[in-house]
Amino acid sequence: MMVRDDARGFASHPGEEVHVTAESCLFCRIAAGEIPANVVRSEEDVVAFRDINPQAPLHVLVIPRRHIPSVPALEAADGALVGRLFLVARDIAREEGVEEAGYRLVVNVGPAAGQSVPHLHLHVLGGRELDWPPG
Ligand code: AMP
Repeated sequence: MMVRDDARGFASHPGEEVHVTAESCLFCRIAAGEIPANVVRSEEDVVAFRDINPQAPLHVLVIPRRHIPSVPALEAADGALVGRLFLVARDIAREEGVEEAGYRLVVNVGPAAGQSVPHLHLHVLGGRELDWPPG
């Protein structure tokens, strides 16, 4: 297995195995407080922080503290944790005042969907009209 010490962690050619360690993962380091972020929720299992490049007036990322690269890496035992991501996203949308108007939850999975950080994260987007279909 190739260990690549960067935050992207995606294979640059088919068949290449790339592994991002918790030590090198950007979002693991944010969750650990090693890299500053605008944290809006910090719980035992889940952290939420404002996106550094917001695509809407409200743009928060909700992540598990544990390093899970993306949806394909999920196991059956992670079901409750995935549920927690949604519940925290729901609470943030409520607290930030977008629940009534509506908002969008997005998970980009892999390169074709534009996932740029290989640590599972739920985007919470709101505060404006959101087009469909997305780009
Ligand atoms: P995705 O493209 O779905 O993997 O989403 C990754 C998101 O992480 C993007 O919206 C980035 O703007 C955001 N991001 C990258 N680095 C940081 C950071 N240091 N703090 C907050 N958000 C970040």
